[in-house]
Amino acid sequence: MSDRRIVLATHNPHKVAEYRSIVGVTRPDLEVVGYDGPEPIEDGVTFAENALIKARAAAAHTGLAAIADDSGICVDVLGGAPGVFSAYWAGHAKDATANLELLLDQLADIPDPHRTAHFVTTIALVAGDEEHVVEGRWPGRLAHAPSGTGGFGYDPIFIPDGQEPGSERPVGEWTAEEKNADSHRARAFAALAPLLSRL
Ligand code: IMP
Repeated sequence: MSDRRIVLATHNPHKVAEYRSIVGVTRPDLEVVGYDGPEPIEDGVTFAENALIKARAAAAHTGLAAIADDSGICVDVLGGAPGVFSAYWAGHAKDATANLELLLDQLADIPDPHRTAHFVTTIALVAGDEEHVVEGRWPGRLAHAPSGTGGFGYDPIFIPDGQEPGSERPVGEWTAEEKNADSHRARAFAALAPLLSRL
């Protein structure tokens, strides 16, 4: 790789900062830069398709290696929905409270054993004619009511697996450090690291 820069296909400065610290662990020589080019239409029906659409667009526009991600929540009893529609589940506006309330209504009569779900983050890396996709999954189940003020999106209703029975908490009650150590995003980053070291 001749250019020491890698472009992250997002206009979100928080995501750029997050990726800088992650990429820095494996590749301190790489500079992660934000993307200010045209945004492609994300019309994929899978997380991988959408991540690739964004990474390819940023790579084509800048001539740099590019990474992009796409995330959401998948509920088993809904056949994996909201999935790629997680941000817009209750309509076009990205209204996190409306999304979460709609999902709770849809599951109102579903008992605990059938409320299993997982968060997913898919990251696409496009470098020249190489394309890679990695995924991180965080399994758990959905609560019956929101709780906690931490995180964002569906965090107040997502109870990750692996907690002490009787003291399980939704991610809305977790600290940012707790979440970042375990989340679907952390798991996807871990899968990305070996690919970055090969660039
Ligand atoms: P994005 O692709 O990272 O922008 O995520 C799309 C949507 O998935 C968000 O708007 C949220 O509704 C949901 N989502 C993704 N990651 C998380 C998370 O860590 N907590 C809660 N909701 C999430």
